[in-house]
Amino acid sequence: MAQLEVYRIDPAAVDVARGEATLSGDEAHHLLRVRRGQPGERVMLIDGYGTAWSAQLVAAERASARLRLVSRHERWREPPVRVHLGIGLLKADRVLDAIDQCVQAGVAEITPFASECAVAGWRENRARRAERRALEAAKQCARGSVPPVHAPQPIADWCIQREAGARKLVADTDGDAFPDIAPGERVAVAVGPEGGFSEREIEFMFAHGFRRVSLGPRRCRSETAAVLAVAAITGRVEQPPAVS
Ligand code: SAM
Repeated sequence: MAQLEVYRIDPAAVDVARGEATLSGDEAHHLLRVRRGQPGERVMLIDGYGTAWSAQLVAAERASARLRLVSRHERWREPPVRVHLGIGLLKADRVLDAIDQCVQAGVAEITPFASECAVAGWRENRARRAERRALEAAKQCARGSVPPVHAPQPIADWCIQREAGARKLVADTDGDAFPDIAPGERVAVAVGPEGGFSEREIEFMFAHGFRRVSLGPRRCRSETAAVLAVAAITGRVEQPPAVS
């Protein structure tokens, strides 16, 4: 089946009772002006919180598009496991690459953390760029939710705040094989910055219930390790779609 173009819709602009939705702003501009969408065209709408709608363009207005809702899909292309990635602050665009690829691999949320060996900072405009990259990646892979990228926090705070019921992993070249993961689990996984973790940080994580996992014999860049870690987790619980 041909892949439909994906647009993000504000949940408040979805009128379920009337079976309609109104797309506005950049998303409407893209559909109407860039793609020159015509009435009758089918698209996919995602609300960013897991719900997707198959919809049909009804009318183009000056700065908005009116669509008819055709079918609703809950947890659209969401993995049956909730992965929270904590990643050391990285230079320049590397953290954006990590966000892009981890969203495609099924991450649920991302928190950059400041740690002893991290040299990068987090400038004002990074938050906006991170948010935009997460949205583009979610649209690209057509998943219903747009994972939030939280403001950076100290690594100790991130570790302490992980829930008691979550499985806690830290990616480390000296780690053990990846454990089995069951559908429904919540997993927090920490990936170090380019300089890695200090022994003190590893000890702190152990004391807070984290266990070391290896991603294989090669020492990867942080952004590669991040996507390998997320994919290792989601890949343990996801089935490939059935071929009809
Ligand atoms: N000099 C650092 C060291 O030796 O720890 C290298 C850090 S590596 C570039 C960045 C992060 O990616 C590591 O802290 C770790 O979390 C993760 N990582 C890279 N390769 C890995 C692997 N094969 N297994 C597990 N984690 C890995």
